Amino acid sequence: MNAAHRARRLVAGSWSRREFLVFGWFPFFRSRHIHLAGARFRILRNGRSKRRYLLIHGNEETARIVLTRFMETQPGIAYRIETRTRNIQVNSLEIDPNRMFSRAGAEASLKSLNTNWAPQQVAAALRTLDHGREHLVRALLPPAGGLIIAVHNNSEEYSVADEVPISDATSLREPANPHAFFLCTERADFLILSRSPYNVVLQQEKPERDDGSLSRLAARRGARYVNLEVRLGNADRQLEMLRWANQNLP
Ligand SMILES: [Zn+2]
Repeated sequence: MNAAHRARRLVAGSWSRREFLVFGWFPFFRSRHIHLAGARFRILRNGRSKRRYLLIHGNEETARIVLTRFMETQPGIAYRIETRTRNIQVNSLEIDPNRMFSRAGAEASLKSLNTNWAPQQVAAALRTLDHGREHLVRALLPPAGGLIIAVHNNSEEYSVADEVPISDATSLREPANPHAFFLCTERADFLILSRSPYNVVLQQEKPERDDGSLSRLAARRGARYVNLEVRLGNADRQLEMLRWANQNLP
C-alpha cells in the first residue's frame, strides 16, 4: 500500500476532515530514523504522549527486547539505536554514544577508546559531533512536562554502588540487587520512585565534571530524565520496573 492509499484510508477512517486539513501530509513524511555520526536510531511511535524512551547502547540486548515489547502497547516515542555494538564510529574513531552529549565528554571518550588517535582526527570528530548534536538532543529531550526513560543493561563492573557517592539522594530498598536501579534528575520523580520496592538515586545538581552522558545534559537543561539499569539477561525484571515507572510517574 503506498502513501496515497494509506492517506485516503486514514481520511476515510479515524481522521476527521478537519484533522486532515490541519496536519496535511506531515505524518507520512516524518522520518523513521535520526542519527548523530554513526549512532543511528530507529524511531518507534505509538499514539500521542509526552513520554520518550531511549536505547543508546546497541549491545544491551535485554533492554532492546524490553523496550521493543513495551512500545507495542504503551504510547510515546522510542529511539532505539540500530548498531549492535556498545561504541559507535564518528569519522574514523570510536566513541561511547552516551558520552557524545557534551564536547568535553566526547573528547575524553575519543581519547580513551582510540589508542593511536591523532589530534586532528579528534578535532574532526568533535566538529562532526558539534555540528549534529543539537538536532538529536532536541528530538530526544521530552517536551515540557514530559519524561524520557533510558533503558540500560549492566554486568559485574557497574552497579548502583558506583552512583551513590555522586548522588544528591539515594533510596536503596533492594541492597542485595545493586544492579537493578533507577537514576533520576528531578526530586519529585525521586520521591515517587523511592516509594517503589527498587533502588533509586537522584542526580539533580550540576556535576563538577561533565561526562557527556544524556543524564547530565538533561539535568543541566531541567529535563525530566530517568535511567533504568538492570543486569543483562534479566528481561522480566526490566519490564517490571519500566512498567512501574511508567504507571506511577506523572
Ligand atoms: Zn548502557
